[in-house]
Amino acid sequence: MKMRFNTQDAFMQSMEESIQKNVSLAAYNTFRFAYHAEYFAIAETLDSLKKLLAWANHFNQTVTMIGGGSNLLISADVTGLVIINRLSGINAREHRGNLVSLTVAAGENWHQVVAFAVQEGWFGIENLALIPGTIGAAPVQNIGAYGVEIKDVLARVQVIDKTSGDVYWINARDCGFAYRDSYFKGKWKDKLLITSVELSLKKQADLLLSYGGLSDRIEGKPSLASVFKLVCDVRSEKLPDPTMLANSGSFFKNPIISQAIHSDLKVRFPNLVSFPFEDGFKLAAGWLIDQAGWKGKQYQGVGVYEKQALVLVNYSEENAEPLLELEAKIKQSIFELYGVELEREPVQLPLTPLIETGHVEATN
Ligand SMILES: Cc1cc2nc3c(=O)[nH]c(=O)nc-3n(C[C@H](O)[C@H](O)[C@H](O)COP(=O)(O)OP(=O)(O)OC[C@H]3O[C@@H](n4cnc5c(N)ncnc54)[C@H](O)[C@@H]3O)c2cc1C
Repeated sequence: MKMRFNTQDAFMQSMEESIQKNVSLAAYNTFRFAYHAEYFAIAETLDSLKKLLAWANHFNQTVTMIGGGSNLLISADVTGLVIINRLSGINAREHRGNLVSLTVAAGENWHQVVAFAVQEGWFGIENLALIPGTIGAAPVQNIGAYGVEIKDVLARVQVIDKTSGDVYWINARDCGFAYRDSYFKGKWKDKLLITSVELSLKKQADLLLSYGGLSDRIEGKPSLASVFKLVCDVRSEKLPDPTMLANSGSFFKNPIISQAIHSDLKVRFPNLVSFPFEDGFKLAAGWLIDQAGWKGKQYQGVGVYEKQALVLVNYSEENAEPLLELEAKIKQSIFELYGVELEREPVQLPLTPLIETGHVEATN
């Protein structure tokens, strides 16, 4: 349905063509919950994104960006303008020596970029193969797998200020990256959208193979292409393909606990799966949930994936309530059993605004 504006402004009227009203988001989130966007548009160029932001400012509408919708928990209709990011373009610059700069527009598919880098023989992101979604969302939660996080290869990100429309670059070290976290998920979430990402890759072999799940399946000296294939194979075996079974990957973060709590848990649960992390330990949330008996359990039309307890799946629900109830039950049971609080990984929409906006260091 097209919208009508009560304004004489020719530019704002011209936006009528690209903005739709009351559009289902079922095809735009991998949980496939069928909530609606009040206003909806697809941005294919930076210029069209700027115009959409100007429209939203003019009509005082909030803006929510969706990439692949693979890290979202939409639990109500989204007011304001939802923009689907389809900015495209990829540009590589080979430097003398070992480095390659790969600059990619934010709407490109992450896995396709990994496949491209591997094909070109560039090292650094092969362990992150087959993670769904766009490259622009990858820094938001600092995606990671098999011992690598995007922050390890990220040089800088290009952003657009939602209100002013200013476009500028921010160095990766200023983005507040942490485990599945960044300022884009926190204090910048109401202010900035990522429009492009610059990765720093290597031309000479630099593989990280020590992580469990990869190390035990590697023989001899593997090539870049064979590591890429192994990561794809391992992931396909244990994670549901969202096009076949709706899910958003890991539903909970791995809890980080102190050494003292870890020692106590280790006495009570000698088989506890944990990894040293900074001053304490990271617990395998999937193991905690599995041991608590949740793996494969179904609740109404949702459930816990039968091959990986960290993944919640949606068999048939159009709304998120059963999933939110299942989440609460799992959290309570894990707390009662281990005294550990689980934290959700996907972002819940609609977003709740933060008061703090923070200071942004810009570079050119
Ligand atoms: C089967 C499966 C496996 C997964 N495995 C992993 C894994 O191994 N490791 C991992 O870290 N994650 C994993 N994920 C989660 C998910 O794929 C990543 O978080 C991914 O980066 C999300 O990208 P997206 O484009 O789908 O983001 P979306 O879900 O569209 O958006 C996520 C958040 O980022 C915001 N956002 C999106 N684009 C932008 C932008 N350009 N600028 C600013 N904000 C933006 C959105 O508003 C939202 O808050 C998995 C998900 C699935 C379904």
